[in-house]
Amino acid sequence: MASTKYIFVTGGVTSSLGKGIISASLAKLIQARGYSVTIQKFDPYINIDPGTLNPYEHGECYVTDDGAETDLDLGHYERFLNIPTSQANNVTTGRIYYNVITKERQGEFLGKTVQVVPHITDEIKKSFYKLGETGEYDFVITEIGGCVGDIESLPFVEAVRQARFELGPNNFVSIHLTLVPYLAAAGELKTKPTQHSVKQLLEAGIQPDILVCRSEMPLPNDIRKKLALFCNVPMNSVIEAKDAETIYDVPLLMRKEKLDERVLSKLKISHKKEPIIDNWKGFLGKLKNPTNDVKIALVGKYVELKDAYKSIAESFIHAGAANECKVHLTWIQSEEIDETNVDKLLGEMNGVLVAPGFGERGIEGKITAVKYVRENKIPFFGICLGMQCASIEFARNVLGLEDACSTEIDTESPNPVIDMMEDQKNITAMGGTMRLGAYTCELAKGSKAYSAYNHSKIQERHRHRYEFNNKYLEQFEKAGMIASGKNPDTNLVEIIELKDHPWFVGTQYHPELKSTVLNPHPLFVKFIKAAMDQKKQKVND
Ligand code: GLN
Repeated sequence: MASTKYIFVTGGVTSSLGKGIISASLAKLIQARGYSVTIQKFDPYINIDPGTLNPYEHGECYVTDDGAETDLDLGHYERFLNIPTSQANNVTTGRIYYNVITKERQGEFLGKTVQVVPHITDEIKKSFYKLGETGEYDFVITEIGGCVGDIESLPFVEAVRQARFELGPNNFVSIHLTLVPYLAAAGELKTKPTQHSVKQLLEAGIQPDILVCRSEMPLPNDIRKKLALFCNVPMNSVIEAKDAETIYDVPLLMRKEKLDERVLSKLKISHKKEPIIDNWKGFLGKLKNPTNDVKIALVGKYVELKDAYKSIAESFIHAGAANECKVHLTWIQSEEIDETNVDKLLGEMNGVLVAPGFGERGIEGKITAVKYVRENKIPFFGICLGMQCASIEFARNVLGLEDACSTEIDTESPNPVIDMMEDQKNITAMGGTMRLGAYTCELAKGSKAYSAYNHSKIQERHRHRYEFNNKYLEQFEKAGMIASGKNPDTNLVEIIELKDHPWFVGTQYHPELKSTVLNPHPLFVKFIKAAMDQKKQKVND
């Protein structure tokens, strides 16, 4: 294609309508037609990135190969498209202002008053076009966070308006995602919130080309007609987005509603290739027709907000489908676990995952959970802090180092089996300063990790300040906990596993960030397999 096509997705009426899933589904359909496509997210908050946000505020912080700490929607983009994203795929108001202010200090605008329009909007547009200008993509989908009408998203919406003119009608599509609520008392679907939301977009100078309407039930023709009339869109561009059983149904639902076709027609792309989505359908078939089921506990301290562990939950869905096994996840607050209730909480589980996290809260509960699954031979998967807790537990209860700890929790620990990384010791700033992004890891032949990956060299993503303290490695390995994965350049321990256990694996990195629909993560796949074996074994016993 001659030039990159730009699709902008805005939202109205309320947040949490699933702009990320709609964007990813549309991208999937376009990709399935043989085009190259990427998605980027523009967030209106002032933080430079979500790395400094508490997961309760904004859900999981998703990390890319190039070490960017980003919005969790980028996880959806990768899981759907099966291609990596990068720093350029997530931009916040904070970053835009930071760039403009840095330029101002360098004298780039010398003599001029620096203003929201044009300086901030110019910077936003520069970021809009950045990925398109690489020449790698036929389509760039841009999701604007928040709702139209929010004070904070105004400069983004204004930049979309300007982009519309710069790009011209054949290179620009505006999609507006809204809610069509059902009022039970009236027994009706209501269009007024959408009318108001579109009016707000129009006030900002943007006529949406396509409306995607989230709704609990099908949109009847009279409602579509009404929306078309009041919002100036053709009736075939009023797209129904009914609540789906799983987010992975949405690409097929959007195909049925012809969202991709409407987009291509608006862009005057006539030689349309048909989408090939057989492998996606294959995945859905397995997901919906499991022949087995297992119970997995997810032990973490942010469990009240499921979004805090988004990628882990999705990885279980991918790995469950790969095994044709339904994964029943039980979310357990680590603070609530102690010696008196651990058997009741975990006794029925076929596998336990101890989640990543920061700080002291809930640590002892995690360690108690690890002890229980180690002793009771329940499959265990520890991720980042989960792996660190497994190391502390082993040191305390197997090596007899009762005061073993991580210096994150106890700076004075006499046995710091988890310690701050050397290159982290002089860092005081909090944003973007952890060990971040993809690093190579070498796997030990014959280990469980090796048999899962079937490769000796892998790349996985990191986000942490602390590490396994190599001073203790010999002691650990002698007692049966081995380092089955190590960074070949720094010798940092990246994976630990127990020899004398059906499946006990901890990773310093975050495998969940690389699991996709078409490439379920091998460690999650093997963990679910181990849980299925444990269940079978239990029945036989
Ligand atoms: N708090 C731990 C560290 O910084 C673990 C981080 C994590 O689980 N992502 O090393």
